[in-house]
Amino acid sequence: MTLALTGSTMLSGLSFSQTQAVPYGGKGSQAIPEWYSQAQATTGVHWSLLAGLDVYGASTKPPVGVSRPKRQPHPVVGYRFTQAEWQGLFNPVQDDINPMRIGLFGGRGADGDKDGKADQNDPYDRVRAVAAWLRHGGASEDEQVNVLWNHFENEVAVQRVTALAHVFRHFGTIQLSERAFPIHKRYSYSYRDTWGEGRSFGGRRIHEGTDIFAGYGAPVLSTCFGYVELIGWNRLGGWRIGLRSADNTYFYYAHLSSYARSVRQGIIVRPGQVLGYVGSSGYGKPGTSGKFPPHLHFGIYRDTGTREWAFDPYPLLRQWERKPQVIISPPKKGEEKERPSI
Ligand SMILES: [Zn+2]
Repeated sequence: MTLALTGSTMLSGLSFSQTQAVPYGGKGSQAIPEWYSQAQATTGVHWSLLAGLDVYGASTKPPVGVSRPKRQPHPVVGYRFTQAEWQGLFNPVQDDINPMRIGLFGGRGADGDKDGKADQNDPYDRVRAVAAWLRHGGASEDEQVNVLWNHFENEVAVQRVTALAHVFRHFGTIQLSERAFPIHKRYSYSYRDTWGEGRSFGGRRIHEGTDIFAGYGAPVLSTCFGYVELIGWNRLGGWRIGLRSADNTYFYYAHLSSYARSVRQGIIVRPGQVLGYVGSSGYGKPGTSGKFPPHLHFGIYRDTGTREWAFDPYPLLRQWERKPQVIISPPKKGEEKERPSI
């Protein structure tokens, strides 16, 4: 599964505030928040699928008719139904939270925590309702994912949700916000804030990322928990890699000299995992290299589901650089085993 970064859909320089599918502190800070495990126990829908849908829902633009309450704490963030879906299309009571009446009018709203209310701002109620909706598709995960196909009618959306679910399932937690600096710090490197500077090698009009200069072969590391969404040659980027993190951020690495052993599309990665090596590939046909000094071009992108934009990696790089590094080396030759993948 690849999501090509297309220049035409990108907007540069917009500020972005991170959305989190889960709150810090309280029950949401558990490895698997209780509203997910409880919904799984009741409906059989796997918690990781519910969490994957929530991360996707929280980080993308909600469809028409879905409102997100302002100034609410984090637990409300996640996949949401329209008010009509929640309470039933012909339910005459505005913003109804009466579970019985909602049921009577065929609404999807549910009372997950049995407090007598079906309130979409309560994550127990919201997640239970989502789980019941997916369970209507059938008992198997394929059938439940099929509900998402029919709902989104968008291949990228469904693949994203299931890929995120597999990442959560692999690590057994949704607490995967850790970040790491993308270059092995034992090697010499340098970078400065070049956001928006004109670039000398053609390509996009402004520079959407940070260039980290280092010698050929310096190890390039995963910044996040996530998976390899894109890998291969691109005329400008050379040998490049795109990572999708567990919170639906996209990290773009370009100009590598080579990839680390066992790194391929779909593998699940963690912070500090070696992905490849610094080089100067790009600006020509596959294999072209040496047209500029070796460096890692590093970019960060978010998307709303329909639109994608870059934001400045520099301040984050400075932050990550201060943290101790745990390097996860590639397997030795002959010791490759099947990598976990989405
Ligand atoms: Zn660059």
